[in-house]
Amino acid sequence: MAGKAVGDEAGLWVAQEAIIIQFLPENASQPLKNAKEIVLQMPRPKFHAQFLFERACPHCRKIVRVLVHDYGELTPENLDEKTGMHNFPVLPVKCPLCAGEDWPTHAVLFDATEDRVVRRVPLGTADLPVVGGGAPYAVTYSPEEQAELERGLAKLPEFFRQKGEEFWERYCAWALSRWRDALKEISPEEWAEGYASLGVSLPGHPSPAACRKDAEARFASDKEKTAAWRALNRWLVEKEFLWIPVDQWPVEEWAARYGRERVTWLLLNLPLLEELERWRTEKLAPAVPKKTCGPQAVLWERIKQLGQALDRQRRRSEELSRLLQEERAARHNLEEKLAAARAEVSRLREELSGRPVEAGRNPEDARRIARLKSLVRELREEVLHLREMLPREEPAPDKEEPTPVTAPAEEVPRLEDVLVGRIVVAFGRVGEPLNGPVRILWHHGDRWDLDAERLAKEADVLVVLTRFCSHEAMWAAKEFAADTGKPIGFARGSGVESVLRAAADVWARQKKEQEFL
Ligand SMILES: [Zn+2]
Repeated sequence: MAGKAVGDEAGLWVAQEAIIIQFLPENASQPLKNAKEIVLQMPRPKFHAQFLFERACPHCRKIVRVLVHDYGELTPENLDEKTGMHNFPVLPVKCPLCAGEDWPTHAVLFDATEDRVVRRVPLGTADLPVVGGGAPYAVTYSPEEQAELERGLAKLPEFFRQKGEEFWERYCAWALSRWRDALKEISPEEWAEGYASLGVSLPGHPSPAACRKDAEARFASDKEKTAAWRALNRWLVEKEFLWIPVDQWPVEEWAARYGRERVTWLLLNLPLLEELERWRTEKLAPAVPKKTCGPQAVLWERIKQLGQALDRQRRRSEELSRLLQEERAARHNLEEKLAAARAEVSRLREELSGRPVEAGRNPEDARRIARLKSLVRELREEVLHLREMLPREEPAPDKEEPTPVTAPAEEVPRLEDVLVGRIVVAFGRVGEPLNGPVRILWHHGDRWDLDAERLAKEADVLVVLTRFCSHEAMWAAKEFAADTGKPIGFARGSGVESVLRAAADVWARQKKEQEFL
């Protein structure tokens, strides 16, 4: 199987082609290990294949998987066909326990029948690059790069049909020029495959050495050697180099399995489309021979250096990606704490707002004042209305007392002492201003006029002489007091003594209230 995974919404995706799983060829006499050692030793003809994304939830300490694609019941060969070129969006995976979201770290091929992981590949690595940026993956391709790669890979089979013959000729010529050494690099699996396709039986004990001796004896002419070389190399060329996408070539593993000389020659000479050429350069570095000599030594050295630089970069970006993952886990932690703190703050706030206001001139006070003022205004209007209905001449003060607020006078301090330096305005009669320790000013109290307003503003304490003041003036004075917060007292008599007592009472009461507040 070859396939890749991918993301549109997040601008990220994984071309599923990057997950390479190779199965046993049906006619293989023994397990043929592929480049990535992913050999499915199939006990059953079919299995239920699922493609999943996976991450660990750092909070719940659980592995979270999300199904990306269900292939259903498949034989390995079917899977291979079906998964050819799928692009799967890479999206954050939600944890079902804590609902936290984060980017998946692995792609998983899962066998649902046996409930087992067939293959697990880290995302955003050289093994499974993610296409698109913006997520914390070490190896990402830009969409343009991926498109170019896909274009190149799509055209490769046709391209190779055209260039194949010429390639095989050169490849065989190279092998024939070093026939004995070339044969040394043929793997046991290739001997089996090649001999089977040539219709020749393997020697009784098919060790590589025995096979090589057999081949040296058996294939004498160039024509025979060429045919044999093609048969022995078909697997390597067609099922490895051409089958596995160029960006995924496991060069080092190939060098170990198929011989460094052959693999290097193929890396240098396999026909590739221009779109894929950059990968050839990149893949060459790991194949550089350990000891270099001859005219190409300098060139090899340079390739090795570049390859090492690339490798360092890659390791660094993988390290950075790991750090980023850790950072994100830490941030996740902090965010949780922050959320808890916010919840606590809003809980406290709610608790506070439910509590009665206990101090200061708070909104509740303001509301109370507003209520009082509107009550006062209503009453004053009522009074004006009543007054219009009365006969003109007499604004006769009535007997009844408007809200007598006389508090029981306990051991009252001397009135002048309480009010010393203050101005008291009495409404209800005219008189000479009194300029003692306490100033007393008078207003006729017939109605609330400009004079009344001015005096009220000057006053520290207002006193209404209830038996002499008009209703209108009284209510206006009350409104004024409610508005400004100045104390207002009520006196039955009209003498200085009455006025002072009423003023001192209300003044003291207000002082006490303010102290209490
Ligand atoms: Zn969780």
